[in-house]
Amino acid sequence: MKHMRQILSDFHFHTQCSDDAQGSVREYALCAQQAGLTHLGVANHLEWADDRVTATVVPARDIARHATVAREIQQARAEFPDLVFAQGIEVENAWESKTLITEVLDAVSPDYAIASVHYVNGQNISGDWGIAFLKTQKEEVVYNSYFDEVEKMLDWGVGAILGHLDLAKRYATGVFGPFKHEHYRSRIESIVKTAKRKNVVIEINTSGLFQYPQETYPGPYIFDYLKDAGISAVSFGSDAHCPEHVGRGVSLLMQVAEQAGISAFRLF
Ligand SMILES: [Zn+2]
Ligand SMILES: [Zn+2]
Repeated sequence: MKHMRQILSDFHFHTQCSDDAQGSVREYALCAQQAGLTHLGVANHLEWADDRVTATVVPARDIARHATVAREIQQARAEFPDLVFAQGIEVENAWESKTLITEVLDAVSPDYAIASVHYVNGQNISGDWGIAFLKTQKEEVVYNSYFDEVEKMLDWGVGAILGHLDLAKRYATGVFGPFKHEHYRSRIESIVKTAKRKNVVIEINTSGLFQYPQETYPGPYIFDYLKDAGISAVSFGSDAHCPEHVGRGVSLLMQVAEQAGISAFRLF
């Protein structure tokens, strides 16, 4: 009997097509092969941040960027026949660019988009530049505003995957202490239910394991919410910004998920 190869997927990582990342698709594929990954979703930022804080969308430039990735993926498919590739795009809650974002997505036509919240009240809280802002805020306001934005992204319906649904804790943990999901139970339940209704898959983003909160985005607490909502699969993403980090933490989290009765989503 032929041995079934276990799925080890990473649907969220950035190549040099993103302003804050390094490495080509080929370099990622080489590292992925070494790490035993089987399914790769190259998901670059749709937007481009010249100053690392404020991102812009310039359709001609951004369509060309993502078209380059599509060509790199085609070449990698020929060179790495054992790996399965897809092209994703990470879209952020940049409301002022909604029309331009749609224009880029229509032109590039990626296999999937990841809907991600990086801004709370107009402030980018995904990087350490957000700490000064967080210090001027109340904990509940930060998380509730973040979840408001997540709901808005789900309403927009832009992504097949919901990225890092509690990313606010990345730096908020340092300001307010550990994230207490119980305080936001009704918010998280509502997000999970909406995601299910809209066929949006929730991502387990493992980058948080290697950052300040030392917990995935969202943490393993989410598995109980998913089970209560009748959801049985999640998407795994390392959010790697360099090839050496591809798949980091995914194998471990897949085991944790499996023990909780949740499996890896099969996107392709
Ligand atoms: Zn993100
Ligand atoms: Zn990302």
